[in-house]
Amino acid sequence: LTQVECEWTQQLNRWVETFRPYSTEGKCATYIPALAEANPEHLGICVASEGGQALKAGEWNVPFTMQSISKAISFMAACSIHGIEQVMERVDVEPTGDAFNSIVRLEAHKPGKPFNPMINAGAITVTSLLPGKNAIEKLEPVIDLLEDILDYRPPLNESVFKSEWETAYLNRSLAYYLKQNGVLASPVEEALEAYSRQCSIQITAEDLAKIGLVLANDGLHPYKGTQVVPRKITKITKALMLTCGTYNASGRLAAFVGVPTKSGVAGGILSAIPPRGRNNGPFSHGCGIGIYGPAIDEVGNSVSGILLLKEMVEQWDLNIF
Ligand code: GLU
Repeated sequence: LTQVECEWTQQLNRWVETFRPYSTEGKCATYIPALAEANPEHLGICVASEGGQALKAGEWNVPFTMQSISKAISFMAACSIHGIEQVMERVDVEPTGDAFNSIVRLEAHKPGKPFNPMINAGAITVTSLLPGKNAIEKLEPVIDLLEDILDYRPPLNESVFKSEWETAYLNRSLAYYLKQNGVLASPVEEALEAYSRQCSIQITAEDLAKIGLVLANDGLHPYKGTQVVPRKITKITKALMLTCGTYNASGRLAAFVGVPTKSGVAGGILSAIPPRGRNNGPFSHGCGIGIYGPAIDEVGNSVSGILLLKEMVEQWDLNIF
């Protein structure tokens, strides 16, 4: 994306420096040991708009792993392959208000159908639906979709994958429970491994901004002109991001930020702002936002990243409501 130097970029730079110090109110995730190695003071943003133009500030090009943000990609891939109805036979689209890896409602909601694809139980179920005889093959449709959007095949961060794979006790219990109830569509370890691999795909804030822009444009690639995801699927994905995308802060974010957003525990934030025919500077035609700030709060969202997003959305009038 072409960096545009203008007053908007200067403003972004100022906000990055304003919110960077708030990273001390959070901590890098430690439950996946390799994530604890990130620099908690990093904060970067990229805002992509029509025609491949972008505003970038801070550590917009520092690589990090997608983690939960990959759930939006695997959901779009599974729906594109099987159709929405078939995916919804196994996973619902209701918010939970529970932690991302919570197990409690699986029992309460017989026969254990996960509430939505943005919590781990739902995401592992979605991944189990991806075609392929093993975990590596199951990952292909996710990487293929990312390649369609990004124009390159993002790599896997092997050390993060290994670290998650060796410590995925809770995800293992979720997956075995799902299998027992007939929800998983593939062998347990295969779905789990593919899920852990998709979480370890390495991208940058700039990449997230491109994904956001494709979502903002209902799946139409903004400068290739190709439909990379069917319209209807992008609309459901954006609704899920808004209602379930930022863990158990999703309601608060919908109310006080008001943009479809998916976050991940490595500190990434993906937002999509659809066009609204209103003249708010470079954003009249919609934009995609990617943010990286690895110090996260107790819920799992980047502390400085969310503050930066909120300020920008307020000041530049991007709230979709
Ligand atoms: N790999 C993570 C897990 O399942 C993803 C968590 C996240 O970003 O919320 O534990």
